Amino acid sequence: MNQYQHKDIEGNTINLPVGKVLCVGRNYMDHIVEMGGSEGTSPQKGAPVLFMKPPSALCHFSENLNIPTDRGECHNELEVAFLIGKPLRNASHEECRAALYAVALGLDLTLRDLQNTLKDAGLPWERCKSFDDSCPVSAFSFLSDAHAIDYTFQLTINNELRQDGNTDFMLWPTIELLVTATKEFTLLPGDIVMTGTPKGVGPLFSGDKIEANLDGILNVSTKVN
Ligand code: ZN
Repeated sequence: MNQYQHKDIEGNTINLPVGKVLCVGRNYMDHIVEMGGSEGTSPQKGAPVLFMKPPSALCHFSENLNIPTDRGECHNELEVAFLIGKPLRNASHEECRAALYAVALGLDLTLRDLQNTLKDAGLPWERCKSFDDSCPVSAFSFLSDAHAIDYTFQLTINNELRQDGNTDFMLWPTIELLVTATKEFTLLPGDIVMTGTPKGVGPLFSGDKIEANLDGILNVSTKVN
């Protein structure tokens, strides 16, 4: 039974439903390169690589992480996550910005071996991206219209820095991503948008100590079961 509810950084439950998670792949060039792509093959010219996780994928980042152990490597992908507060359909820049209700850190846990098998076979990604507990999300920090939405963010595993991100380097910046995505997918209050991962993905192991930081706004500390 999924017990996930959105929480704020004071520990209170946020009064929004738990909806879908819209994710973007290939949104940082350094990650595209580490995955075997090349510089200059920017997806900016085409459409963003969009996929989704269902509400049943959500869990709390601050609680111990459950990762599958029978389907190959499960990789960390630390990402900036936004909680949507207003419906967005075919939305303008202004409407998208006004709908950003709160910010958090999320992990887009990915079964990498299975993803490669699925990619090679031309099959959809749900089995490698959308499984139960594949989307740990931290507590959310509320945003006002006055807040800048540029962040640095870091992930350490067993005290070693693995990911060091800066949203300035997104190929599809958050608002452009939302403007484009909401032409095809309506977002509803309580949905979450994950904005892609920088380089530094790799396999997680039982007992790993995970720490993440969002620009001095919030910290998460947990471990892998
Ligand atoms: Zn991702």
